[in-house]
Amino acid sequence: MTQCPECDFNISIPKDSLEGEIVTCQDCGSSFEIMKSSDDFKLKPAQTVGEDWGQ
Ligand SMILES: [Zn+2]
Repeated sequence: MTQCPECDFNISIPKDSLEGEIVTCQDCGSSFEIMKSSDDFKLKPAQTVGEDWGQ
């Protein structure tokens, strides 16, 4: 279980998940990119594909 950085909802991440996969919090709807650390997963905010960042 990894906690959502936004709302502390417990997000279950399958053990075979790959770094870079996107998970969505079922509680607040935020999307996060999976970062693997030594024995655990971390979540960082995902940049939504398709957004125009003004480039
Ligand atoms: Zn959340």
